Amino acid sequence: MTALVGILLAVCGLVIGFLIGRRTARRGAAAPARTAAPAPRPTIADLLQRVFHATDQGLAVLSKHSDVVLHNARAVELGLVGDGRIDSRAAAAAERVERDGNPLAVDLSPLDRRGRRPSAVFAQVRPLGDGFAVVEAADTSEAVRLENTRRDFVANVSHELKTPVGAMGLLAEAVLDAADDPDEVRRFGTKILNESTRMGNLVTELIALSRLTGAERLPEMQTVEIDEVVNESLARAKLSAEAAGIAFTVDEPSGLEVQGDLQLLVTALSNLLENAVAYSRSDASVSVSRRLVDDWVEIAVTDRGIGIAPEHQQRVFERFFRVDPARSRATGGTGLGLAIVKHVLANHGGEVRLWSRPGTGSTFTMRLPAAAALTVDQAEPAAIGGTT
Ligand code: ADP
Repeated sequence: MTALVGILLAVCGLVIGFLIGRRTARRGAAAPARTAAPAPRPTIADLLQRVFHATDQGLAVLSKHSDVVLHNARAVELGLVGDGRIDSRAAAAAERVERDGNPLAVDLSPLDRRGRRPSAVFAQVRPLGDGFAVVEAADTSEAVRLENTRRDFVANVSHELKTPVGAMGLLAEAVLDAADDPDEVRRFGTKILNESTRMGNLVTELIALSRLTGAERLPEMQTVEIDEVVNESLARAKLSAEAAGIAFTVDEPSGLEVQGDLQLLVTALSNLLENAVAYSRSDASVSVSRRLVDDWVEIAVTDRGIGIAPEHQQRVFERFFRVDPARSRATGGTGLGLAIVKHVLANHGGEVRLWSRPGTGSTFTMRLPAAAALTVDQAEPAAIGGTT
């Protein structure tokens, strides 16, 4: 930024010098004509001009009456300059800058709701001396969007933590009031335990999510056997499945391999299995299958549960989004499971796909780039069979 400003000032110096020089030259005698010569090497002024036009910032140099003396194409894209005229807000700022001699920040967004103009544009207006000013505009839409996401996330986390903490406080009071009744103490004690487990799960998932979104270095990628991922995930989800009376139907081992981190992949797949159990009727079955499609390893989890309406299918991967918050809470859900799945897959160069129909069920498919050394035999999808 500082370097750019330096370059800018140099360019502007040259422009102003050029304008003043031209005025002086007009008064003086005409220069003698030169003979034709080979194309000269670019001068420093040429290079500075190129930087001026290549930068991602919208730049405009204004004269005393806010006339645009020079601007780059980006200034037009950002709406700073239109039809050769400067944006009125920038013009007003430039007049103040000329009066006070101090740089000024100005919000130029939204300039135009139509077309592909960015929605957040901020500019700095700086004096250049001799009545000239320069306006530097930048598209800050992404930064604004990230800031909004961060604020929503902090608000959601606070809300999610407040609920179990509040419940634990009330339950602890109930325990104290029922101190003489062992049955009641046991009942409230169990509820406190459930709430603290819920809070523990939430904190664990928040830590997992912050690791996955870049707060920490991810583990080194290694060759991971998909069959191991499937077996470990099934073992993790076994208790909830048994409690809900749900049987897993699993295909034959595939011998497929990917580059990745075993524990992260197990976390992702067991989240899908836990959801399949949580959002199915008891006694239903959930199937797990794996196969190679082109160069992608796919692990699909299919349930015959409540399904997800089309308008919610994108949103279920957002942090804390739940179709039915009461049901999610009742099943101990944190609302972060699918966000974690999405980020685990993204960190492996893969993706998660969803097919779902309300009343019919859902299929979540984890797709991962296959490890390079696969043989053609391994590419055959295995038949569904076996129950764990
Ligand atoms: P939660 O902890 O609430 O389950 P997730 O991020 O895992 O959070 O899922 C987000 C939401 O997506 C759930 O609250 C639920 O509404 C919906 N969902 C996830 N998996 C399924 C599924 N297999 N069937 C139906 N709905 C599901």
